[in-house]
Amino acid sequence: MASELRELYQEVILDHTRNPRNLRAMGQGSARAEGYNPLCGDRATIYLRLEQDTIRDASFEGKGCSISTASASMMTEALKGRTRTEALALFEAFHTLITGSPEQADAAVRELGKLKVFAGVSEFPARVKCATLAWHTMRSALEGGSETATTTEKD
Ligand code: ZN
Repeated sequence: MASELRELYQEVILDHTRNPRNLRAMGQGSARAEGYNPLCGDRATIYLRLEQDTIRDASFEGKGCSISTASASMMTEALKGRTRTEALALFEAFHTLITGSPEQADAAVRELGKLKVFAGVSEFPARVKCATLAWHTMRSALEGGSETATTTEKD
């Protein structure tokens, strides 16, 4: 990874860890799911407010490491205004960015905007699940599941 991207990564993670965006619960009428990453102990609750097929608002609560917090914070920002289909496509691109081959990751970067800084995580395989926890949890909120999403399944 280019050193400027690495610096940007550290900067962005720090910023979102200190000042998490959309860190709040949502009340009735929102879709919600809980996630747990047993490898690190991260916990996240993701809230989505959907209007027909569009995510109008997204927020989270959680306790976890800086990567899981920053990832949830940035994800909630990125989801607002997107449709379900777009949100799931973004999840796929994000997942590819940190677990795919360098060629696949290059292609994913184009769809990800600011989220591309998480490319830094691919250098630390043990932290991949910290970064994807919020996304897995978002997906189960979209699917309306009430079960806890864990990162232990094949992902
Ligand atoms: Zn973690």
